Amino acid sequence: MYTYICPKCGREFQSEHDQHYQCKSCGYWQLIVLYQEDNQVINKEAYDTTKRNFASNKKFELSCNECGKQAEFYCVDVLGLFCECGGFFREEMNSKEAIGKLKEYRKKGKLNQQQMADKLGVSKNYYASVEKGTRKANTKIIRFIRDNLSDPYQTIKTVV
Ligand SMILES: [Zn+2]
Ligand SMILES: [Zn+2]
Repeated sequence: MYTYICPKCGREFQSEHDQHYQCKSCGYWQLIVLYQEDNQVINKEAYDTTKRNFASNKKFELSCNECGKQAEFYCVDVLGLFCECGGFFREEMNSKEAIGKLKEYRKKGKLNQQQMADKLGVSKNYYASVEKGTRKANTKIIRFIRDNLSDPYQTIKTVV
């Protein structure tokens, strides 16, 4: 018997088969499957983490490394939750580290916040609040960091 949990909506279900590709509830297709093999429980940590996060409604906003689409998941411990476009959902880049790199980039290039905002195609006020950490980086900024600055994804843990 296989037990499944959807990292996106938190729904759990069981099946005789190990070929469940789609959540019956939300349609997301990369499910975490819990099963036993040679006296070892496979995916227990990812499963339990997802279940725990669902119970406490703890969500993570992840963005696709290809198309930039953002989505919420109950689990970040599974590296590479797939996006429809074939990319992976990863932790959003509005971490302090990523924004720090953006700021560093701006200063190195001797740009003021207005010039940097123009470069990114966002308003100066919005850009300034992202640097301050009071607002989240939008897709334009995330893409810029992703494409131009070094990889801020290194902190992601691989469980499965
Ligand atoms: Zn689901
Ligand atoms: Zn995508």
